[in-house]
Amino acid sequence: ASERLYLGMDFGTSGARYALIDKQGTIHAEGKREYPQYLKEDSMDWGRSWKTTLFSLLEDVPVHLCPLVASISLDGTSATTLIIDSNTGELVARPYLYNESCPDALPLVKSIAPINHTVCSGSSTLCKLVSWWNNDNSDKKSTMLLHQADWLLWLLHGQLGVSDYNNALKVGYDPEIDSYPDWLLSQPYARLLPTVKAPGTSIGHLKGNIRTQFARATKPGKAVTSLGSTLAIKLLSTTRIEDARYGVYSHRLDDKWLVGGASNTGGAVLKEIFTDEQLDKLSEHINPMKASPLDYYPLRSVGERFPVADPNMEPRLHPRPESDVEYLHGILESIARIEAKAYILLKDLGATQVDEVFTAGGGSKNDKWTKIRERVLGLPVSRATQTEAAYGLRCWL
Ligand code: ADP
Repeated sequence: ASERLYLGMDFGTSGARYALIDKQGTIHAEGKREYPQYLKEDSMDWGRSWKTTLFSLLEDVPVHLCPLVASISLDGTSATTLIIDSNTGELVARPYLYNESCPDALPLVKSIAPINHTVCSGSSTLCKLVSWWNNDNSDKKSTMLLHQADWLLWLLHGQLGVSDYNNALKVGYDPEIDSYPDWLLSQPYARLLPTVKAPGTSIGHLKGNIRTQFARATKPGKAVTSLGSTLAIKLLSTTRIEDARYGVYSHRLDDKWLVGGASNTGGAVLKEIFTDEQLDKLSEHINPMKASPLDYYPLRSVGERFPVADPNMEPRLHPRPESDVEYLHGILESIARIEAKAYILLKDLGATQVDEVFTAGGGSKNDKWTKIRERVLGLPVSRATQTEAAYGLRCWL
């Protein structure tokens, strides 16, 4: 798929949503997040709340579509006004929300603006700016005004002080002459006003660190086990491992390596013996804290690739106990032992030591199996969801 997709984000009143569309406008993915409620000195910490939501939405974009995203655009509520530190980009005051009114600034604004101008309303951006300018006693030297969307986009592109003429309308920008009017530029707070571009103009590239995080956020030592029809493991390592004797190879991932291999064991063996409903039912009765003494090597046919490459290895699924619960327990435990052996092998070959395992594939929904694997691996194991740190690894499984 070489199709280009376009990511749009809309920051509303109670939450934000995203849509990923193609040139024709067809939606390929969409999602929504409510703003988390963060408090700072007894009032809402909106900046943190919006920022968190922005990154949550980015993480919600399906991993397989991320590489296709050609551009990102974002809108917010236009009169939501932020006063920020022009050196750090951090908010220096509580944001003024779109529907807030600053009637105290109205007489002054009316005295400088043309009659009935958009800024002559208590909730205009200009009234907010003037109200802050006149009431806040802090040092105003290195401050700047931004709209909500400008600030959120800054978090992505890193160029401070850029807005567009739709957002800037309520602070007094004149889109017809494409500049701030003289009556506004002559004010002492005019230096706080952002640079204005046409909406949709490209501002910059996604910051490098966010690109990496967005594309594949993870640390060495994180691993993904895929428990689908077969078992495959991938571990993010600072070192490269290749050894054909064990079916181990490494993909390069920027300055790191995704090392691992694929075994022939896995869910396909379970499927031959049990239906999905039986798997659910029988699993309920398994005590995952108890080690099963049954020692199998579940394969669908002769031959194994990893953690040992042996084309002649025979499947071993006997003896079969009378109890199906015990049988399934034995198979799940045996597959977990193969997984553990695989991680030990990678370590012995010099890979970064695994410290956490995420699980993808049909087997990841079996909580009892997850518990068995935690015990056998001696590691925290959880389901790989897109919001988790290792989600990027799934691209490579
Ligand atoms: P594929 O590799 O074919 O894409 P999936 O990720 O769709 O595989 O996973 C399917 C596998 O999940 C099947 O082989 C099935 O045995 C296994 N599976 C389904 N339900 C369960 C369960 N409750 N416990 C363990 N394994 C399961």
